[in-house]
Amino acid sequence: MNIEQAEKYLIHTYNRSVTFDHGEGMYLVDDGGKKYLDMGAGIAVSALGYSNEEYKQALKDQIDKLIHVSNLYFTEPMAKAAKYICQASGMDRVFFTNSGAEAIEGALKLARKYAYQKNQDSKGEIIAMEHSFHGRTMGALSVTGTKHYREPFEPLIGGVSFAQYNDLDSVKELVTPDTCAIVLEGLQGEGGIHPAEPEFMKGLRRLCDEQDILLILDEIQCGMGRTGKMFSYQHYGIRPDIVTMAKALGCGVPVGAFAAVDKAARAMLPGDHGTTYGGNPLACAAVSKVFEIFEEKRLLDHVDQIAPYLKEQLVELQKRHSCIAEIRGKGLMQGMELTVPAARIVARAMENGLVLISAGEKVIRIVPPLIVEKEHIDEMCQILDKILE
Ligand SMILES: *Cc1c(COP(=O)(O)O)cnc(C)c1O
Repeated sequence: MNIEQAEKYLIHTYNRSVTFDHGEGMYLVDDGGKKYLDMGAGIAVSALGYSNEEYKQALKDQIDKLIHVSNLYFTEPMAKAAKYICQASGMDRVFFTNSGAEAIEGALKLARKYAYQKNQDSKGEIIAMEHSFHGRTMGALSVTGTKHYREPFEPLIGGVSFAQYNDLDSVKELVTPDTCAIVLEGLQGEGGIHPAEPEFMKGLRRLCDEQDILLILDEIQCGMGRTGKMFSYQHYGIRPDIVTMAKALGCGVPVGAFAAVDKAARAMLPGDHGTTYGGNPLACAAVSKVFEIFEEKRLLDHVDQIAPYLKEQLVELQKRHSCIAEIRGKGLMQGMELTVPAARIVARAMENGLVLISAGEKVIRIVPPLIVEKEHIDEMCQILDKILE
């Protein structure tokens, strides 16, 4: 493909170099026929890898039947997908969106409406975390804890303050009678792969219960089995009030959702929120099929079995290379903090047929399709050994 031609017509928000043409299992193939092992899964999206036959067939069948009708009507795929999400998440009701950022927007609106219903003068304050990432739309950006993402686009929505992740006291200090929600990731992704401490999560749940604040967990990246549980909060035995999901929810078809417990969900009434595409039959056919394949293939068990091997091999790699400062993460969401710029390693990996992604300046984020096997982890480590020399 003519890259110059493509660059000419695209707004330059990304620095791209490779043109992918197709994929199979754990591998992507570029337009020159070169094969790449994919340990990034299109940013934690393609949990089933590429070209899964059952998934493709479900989409083809749905395309033949019905793609879109709008949210003015019921469809069978939407009802089915909503039930799967509630059963898997422990939430009571779902609203479908087209992306992660939109799921966050909806969650924030729901929290504000819940507070407004209790007190029309509520300032609807929201506590978010430093180093968090919740998306690029104005609302999602307002709760994203990276200043250089936010600053050029200010003024954003008001009433947002930032606490330190894993520091319960720093959250408590920010709580006021106007606090309507606390929003955080179950495991910080973009911000550099920082897992939550169980006591922090449990403490937040208690705090929210005491003050009737809604606890919003952003499971867009760490959800859908990536950490070994369907949703990361399930490691801590807590139930949030609102959960956002996207990325691997549709495994490639753009779809997101926010789900809520009944007491919160009931705050949204007809006319309060909407979307034209959200949860259309094609997107929802993908969601249902993803849940079915997870079950059939016992993907959560597979993550539990394979993730310790990934961790072990990364720790071995660290022993051999002094430029690796730390390995941290949970399940198949691992971060490798480097003493050198991550972008350089990502570029060298590409040259060597390995797709990696970074999370911030210094962290390589390893978020492979959940179907990854030992042989792929070995292949990645061999390539990394060569590059890190
Ligand atoms: C990717 C991501 C988002 C934003 O999702 P988009 O689909 O890109 O809008 C929000 N939160 C987290 C934790 C994410 O990783």
